[in-house]
Amino acid sequence: MEKRFNVVIVGSGPGGYKVAKFLLEKKLRVCLVEKSLFGGTCLNAGCIPKDYLYNIAVSSLRLKQTFGKIFPLDWEKAIMKIQEKISVLRKNAEEFLKRKGLEIVYGEGELVDEKIIKVENLKLIGDYIVLACGSKPKEEGIHPEDILTGKTFPKKKVLVKGEGPSACELAFILKVFGFEVSILVKDRLLSSLPQIPESFSAKLETAFEELGIEVVEEEIVADTVIVATGREPNLCSELFPFIKKHPSGFVEVDEYLETNVPGVYAVGDIVPPMGASFAFEKARVVAYNIVNGKSLTFEPSKVPVVVTSAYEIGFIGDPSRIVRTEHLSMSLNPKSFVNHKSGILRIGYNEEDKPVFLCGIGHGISEIMNVFSSYMEGSFSHPSYAELIEEVFKQTYVKGS
Ligand SMILES: Cc1cc2nc3c(=O)[nH]c(=O)nc-3n(C[C@H](O)[C@H](O)[C@H](O)COP(=O)(O)OP(=O)(O)OC[C@H]3O[C@@H](n4cnc5c(N)ncnc54)[C@H](O)[C@@H]3O)c2cc1C
Repeated sequence: MEKRFNVVIVGSGPGGYKVAKFLLEKKLRVCLVEKSLFGGTCLNAGCIPKDYLYNIAVSSLRLKQTFGKIFPLDWEKAIMKIQEKISVLRKNAEEFLKRKGLEIVYGEGELVDEKIIKVENLKLIGDYIVLACGSKPKEEGIHPEDILTGKTFPKKKVLVKGEGPSACELAFILKVFGFEVSILVKDRLLSSLPQIPESFSAKLETAFEELGIEVVEEEIVADTVIVATGREPNLCSELFPFIKKHPSGFVEVDEYLETNVPGVYAVGDIVPPMGASFAFEKARVVAYNIVNGKSLTFEPSKVPVVVTSAYEIGFIGDPSRIVRTEHLSMSLNPKSFVNHKSGILRIGYNEEDKPVFLCGIGHGISEIMNVFSSYMEGSFSHPSYAELIEEVFKQTYVKGS
């Protein structure tokens, strides 16, 4: 059987979901193919459960700092609670897009011709195809996703292998929830994000030590070993034979996010940089280019990145344009002072003395990054409350009819 659409999307994570939403708002006929849970990694096993647990951890620390008492936290209960919330969110998100006219096909999609996605015996023909297949862990083992979904319940002594955002975030959350946590660091914390200065990594390491998280350079014995050593793009060549990839595994795209096959676009983690905040912006760019013709380019420097660990650390902008740097203490602000004294903003200015880069460590960094991003006409960090602003501007967000 064959079915025709304006756009066929493979993958319902933040990349695929957002492309579908934007295009449905423009009244296009859209089909989305998903082989697993609707919402992808972000909703089911990544950003959303992590943010819930992070907020519990931060609140608990604040209570302890103020009242000097430890409020016992129950990991299993928290996981059950967030998974209940996620199943509601997943159903709502799916229903929301269906009401807008989305056709969802469950099964594994493969590109059998330049504009045909096949799912079992069904051929989905699109004027455009959008690939949003996401990423998977590079190494075998128990992954942060297994911990956040409750597939694996950590035992008392935990070793987190990795020094990237997920490793730093999970180590912090588990420690506050009462586990004995060590983190295996080969280089320095957050070294995969060169925009973050070494001094910020050092501050985070000090905060870890103060919390009782052991930073180790060699593998140690633990009850649960969590492998958080990075992810790789998930586009396998057998299913998508016409799509050109870099040796790194990422899909080759032009600045408009079109692949080597005209009319086939790629979004999300199969195109660097990885991360849901980037996936949303890539989705906006692709939806815009489908509606208006190829004219909008993807600019990663306009997307804020925020890591939520013992400190919030974030950045936005283009550090290559900096000619002068200034530092600002966050405690100049009374709200910062009364809540959490420590925090630094590092601001980079260009030749015209305009701020072009902002990097910060402290609490409330995502709020600051998002405000700075608005000034740069950029997008918002994820997950953040500021993302709702996009809804306010939805009529003009992806122009055209
Ligand atoms: C623990 C953790 C925490 C994270 N926290 C954050 C955070 O706080 N902020 C942030 O910005 N990012 C975060 N991320 C990263 C974020 O989750 C990913 O960048 C984002 O989910 C990528 O979106 P995507 O649309 O590319 O793919 P995914 O969300 O991975 O979704 C891809 C979907 O495609 C489907 N699929 C793949 N191939 C096929 C096929 N052939 N046919 C049909 N369906 C297919 C998959 O089943 C999947 O549902 C986190 C990741 C992890 C693991």
